[in-house]
Amino acid sequence: MERAPTSNRAERILICYTHAKIKRNFELYCIFRVRTDFRKEAGTCNMAAPHFPAPVPGQRHTGLGKQRTMIVIILSATIAMLGSITLTTDASWHNASSHRTTSTPVSRSTSVATPAHTPTLKPTLTPTQAPVHTPQLGYPLFYGNSHLPEIALTFDDGPNPYYTSQVLAVLQHYKVKATFFDVGYLVADYPNIVRQEYNQGNVVGNHSWSHPELTLLSASAIRSQIASTSTAIQTAIGVKPTLFRPPYGSMNHTVLAEAYSLGVTTVLWDASAGDWSLPGVSVIVYRILHYVHNGAIILLHDGGGNRAQTVAALPTLISTLENQGFSFVTIPQLIDDLATSSPHSGVSKHRATTRI
Ligand code: ZN
Repeated sequence: MERAPTSNRAERILICYTHAKIKRNFELYCIFRVRTDFRKEAGTCNMAAPHFPAPVPGQRHTGLGKQRTMIVIILSATIAMLGSITLTTDASWHNASSHRTTSTPVSRSTSVATPAHTPTLKPTLTPTQAPVHTPQLGYPLFYGNSHLPEIALTFDDGPNPYYTSQVLAVLQHYKVKATFFDVGYLVADYPNIVRQEYNQGNVVGNHSWSHPELTLLSASAIRSQIASTSTAIQTAIGVKPTLFRPPYGSMNHTVLAEAYSLGVTTVLWDASAGDWSLPGVSVIVYRILHYVHNGAIILLHDGGGNRAQTVAALPTLISTLENQGFSFVTIPQLIDDLATSSPHSGVSKHRATTRI
């Protein structure tokens, strides 16, 4: 069997190494991403094997071959550097892979298939960092303790005079507590609904005053959005909120810093059904049951549009997840339980049997 010329063999080794490095970086990146929907996208990380032309029998190693080898080396090194950069520049990847509806902050278009609440920036995670999360101010929480079969239901964009009470009725029927991230001006308009949320044992969090894209605002405007909402919530229920969720999950260092300075913990999510886009009750149920895991923070909406499907999906969601062994906790409880280690060795088995 005829062997390939030396230059072609070197090219293959270099390119294979480069692709393996990029793929490995990408896999690490996918592993350390914390959003469930991104983990589904990880299937697209597979890189096609490079194509090599068949070696020409008897071809000699010429000067042209050396030049070509040098070009390949330079290109390979450049590609490898880009692969490494991909591991750390989260925002650039996100901008290329996601869709945000920034022009409709409260009432969103139903023709867009991707969730409006898509985080635009997450902390840079390197393989040496634990994925999540000692709860601390200034660092967003995406999910809770992965060793405990507990889930946090969260509802955004309320209070809504029509749907919030329906959500509360379902929660009360199943004796489930949830966390509501309320919009400031709606809190001012409907303080009684906020009090109802709070009096039923739920937690009320801050979702900005007018649901803007905070990353487009100045630091002082961001501060005003958060501070005014906290004041409105405190006026409504007598308790200052300690949790904050940026609209669309959109944040940058300024948003995090302002939230930190105002004493609220930024909370994101890692399981979303895209219920705001009215995909259908069965789709909402399927997506949540598919994404859910120990410690999951589930994103749903009780305001910002027609939430009839969300309300209709809730009983099935709650009863199914309870039958699977999950319990429902508020975000503060989820944070408290981050420090709890699992007393059972069979947690991973539980996870394996509860995923569908
Ligand atoms: Zn929202």
